[in-house]
Parts: sequence; structure tokens; C-alpha cells
Amino acid sequence: MVHVSFPYSAPVSQTLFDRAAAVTPGGVNSPVRAFRAVGGTPRFMVSGTGPYLTDADGREYVDLVCSWGPMILGHSHPDVIAAVQEAVSRGTSFGTPGEGEVALAEEIVARIEPVEQVRLVSSGTEATMSAIRLARGFTGRAKIIKFAGCYHGHVDALLAAAGSGVATLGLPDTPGVTGAQAGDTIVVPYNDLEAVHEVFHRYPGEIACVITEASPGNMGVVPPRPGFNEGLKAACAKNGALYISDEVMTGFRTSKAGWYGVDGVRPDLMTFGKVMGGGFPAAAFGGRADVMAHLAPVGPVYQAGTLSGNPIATAAGLAQLRLLDDAAYEKVDAVSEQLRGLVTEALTKEGVAHRLQNASNMFSVFFTEREVRNYDDAKAQESFRFTAFFHSMLSQGVYLPPSAFESWFVSTAHDERAIERIAAALPGAARAAAEATEVTA
Ligand SMILES: *Cc1c(COP(=O)(O)O)cnc(C)c1O
Repeated sequence: MVHVSFPYSAPVSQTLFDRAAAVTPGGVNSPVRAFRAVGGTPRFMVSGTGPYLTDADGREYVDLVCSWGPMILGHSHPDVIAAVQEAVSRGTSFGTPGEGEVALAEEIVARIEPVEQVRLVSSGTEATMSAIRLARGFTGRAKIIKFAGCYHGHVDALLAAAGSGVATLGLPDTPGVTGAQAGDTIVVPYNDLEAVHEVFHRYPGEIACVITEASPGNMGVVPPRPGFNEGLKAACAKNGALYISDEVMTGFRTSKAGWYGVDGVRPDLMTFGKVMGGGFPAAAFGGRADVMAHLAPVGPVYQAGTLSGNPIATAAGLAQLRLLDDAAYEKVDAVSEQLRGLVTEALTKEGVAHRLQNASNMFSVFFTEREVRNYDDAKAQESFRFTAFFHSMLSQGVYLPPSAFESWFVSTAHDERAIERIAAALPGAARAAAEATEVTA
């Protein structure tokens, strides 16, 4: 139990939440949105402009979630909105090939050198599910290696020891996933190459792939230690397995070419989502042409989607990617650096043990003194302090991810005024974190 007072009410959001809970489990369509980890009423948002969101009670917040990453240009960017309006005026879905999906695929291939061929899908979950199937089909092997605390969407085989909402809610292995679906998944601690080598040694010729977040952001931000991704790549190459880099979160965010643009380790397959959809359901997987050639209709591995390459989603994604030039990334990186400095300053002033970790412009705060290298380290933090910190920020008009196990996201739209509002809220939040106590029932 965590003792928290909720500094103000949100009556319209509360009414909507009650209505929602009557017709939808927990009142939400994705678990972390329900505020279970922090308590209180989730805010129902009605509009977004630049770095701001407005809730149903008419309150404005500086948004540090950015729809969990996609809104890297801020909300309602005029060029993205214009592209969507132009596309929608021509119809919403044709169930045929269209030029927009070709242009988006060309943009991805041009930006990310290891992606020789790409297939568009509608969610990150679909991308990782399809990549795993392809890896198994290509290698003729069943077993996969994943890391504790990494989240790859709600794919049955990938939910074991997953991050994101599974971490937020402290869920055990998910009921509904059968032994048959999860039995070929081998979970090892993140940043532990030795453990990966042991698994390869124990199952010679049986591992289809290693899947990893390029730089994990779903247990909070826990970057790979120097040489870790290179080591994974080498272990896969040596053992005939594929190296799958999940860039659904980092792709087109941590640099123009995502995390690949940062560490340069060449994956066999990669997955994308979030930023590439411009706020619409568009995602992708791609990589080596000889592997992608195993996909239907050229190869035997089946994969399909009624709305894959949807013209509105591809128009939004393409418009967003075309705006994401070097200057845009410099801006997002600078905003992130400034905020990290402000958060550190406020927490240090109040003597709160904390550790700020970042992967280029993605960052999160752990309420612990120790470096966080893996999921166990992340879970060892004093997350009750985050709860107090979160509610203080919320009451002062700053919207943080409602979980201590999620990355914070900024955009090119976070200007001086938005940063000043965050800076003004931080001292009170740091004090609340300092004063927070864990109440055991
Ligand atoms: C968000 C995320 C996913 C799942 O994407 P959805 O579009 O929510 O299905 C997969 N992998 C990573 C690394 C993610 O951050």
C-alpha cells in the first residue's frame, strides 16, 4: 500500500471513467492508462496542441508521454494534419496496393541501412509476432531467447517476464498463454552475455533468434552496456540464429536511423512502430532481403493484414518522417538534456536517492542510488516515491507516464514555455518524493 493524497479531483474524467469501467475491463483499452500503479483517476484527454494536452475537465498539461513516443513533433503538427486531411479526402481504405505505402517503405529503407526489404503492419505487436514467425520459418528452429524486462507487445510467446504494463502491474506470467506457446521462450537477464552464451551452449542448433529491445525503454530506460548488442549479434551469427532488434520504441526516435544509428550493430531483422505511424496504427518489420524473401507471397511464411499499409496511416507516418531531419533530432536531444538536468537538480536538492538513465533523448528516473542494468535492478527501486512525484507533477499540470517503469518522451514542440512549466513543478514534486513513505497494510 502506498499512502498518497490526490491533490485535486477531475470530475468529468471520473464520470467518463465510471462509464468506461461499465463497458470495458478496467475502463481502458491498454492497461497502463488506468493509473493502477499510481492510483487516482486517469485523465481523459480531449485535445492536444504542440507539447500540451487538454483533459475533459479543461485542464492543460505539459505532455511528457507523447502517446508513448509517437508524437515526436508534438500534437497536431500542421504538416501531419494536412497530410492526413489530404489522404482522407481520397478515401480511407482500398484493400489494394497504393503509392503511400511504397513511399513509406522507401523512406524506411533509405534511413536504415540494414533494412533491405520491409513489410508494413498495423501495430508493434504484429511486427514482433511476424518477425518471430519469420525467424522460425527461415531457420526451421523453434526456440527463441528474450530478455527479462523487455517488452515486445502482447505476443503470447513474448509475454514471459515482459516490461511495460506487465512490469507496472507486477503481473506474474500471464494466464491465457499456454505452455505450448511459451515453452520455446527462454528468458535471460538483460545485459548478461554470459547467460546468452550458456543458452546457446545448452540448446545447440535449436535457437531460431534472439529478440531484444535495441535499447530497452519498457522497464524504464536501461541502455545496453558497451559491447552487449555486438555480443548478441556475434553469438547469433556463430550459432546460425537471427538477431532481431526491436526498435518499435527507439526507431526514428533515438536518431534518424533509431538505435541502429547510435550503435551501428547490424541486425538480421528489425521491428518498428510508434514514431513511424505519426499517431496512426502503422508499424513494420524488415531486414535482410534473403530472410524477407521467405514471406508470402514470394515465400512460404504467411503474414497478412486487412488494413496493412492503410493510406491515412502511411500518409501521417510519411509526413512525420519527412519532418524528422538532423535539426529535429538535435532539438529533441537538447530538450531531453535540459529536462534531465532540471530533474536531477530538483531531486538532488531534496536529497532524494535517484538515478537518471537515458538512451539519447529517451530517459527515465529510477528512485535508487545504484545503476540499473536489468529488470531486477529496476524492480529494486523505491517506486512509492515515484507515485508521490507523479501526483505532484500531475496536480501542477505536467503529465508523466503513470508508472515508474516507463520512459519519458519529449518532442520538437517542447519550447521554453513548456520547459519553464516543468521546471516550476519539479521542486514541489521532489519534496513530495522526499516525504513519501511506504505504508505496509
Ligand atoms: C510499444 C512497443 C511494442 C508494441 O507495440 P504496439 O504498437 O503497442 O503493439 C513492441 N516493442 C516495443 C519495444 C515497444 O516499445
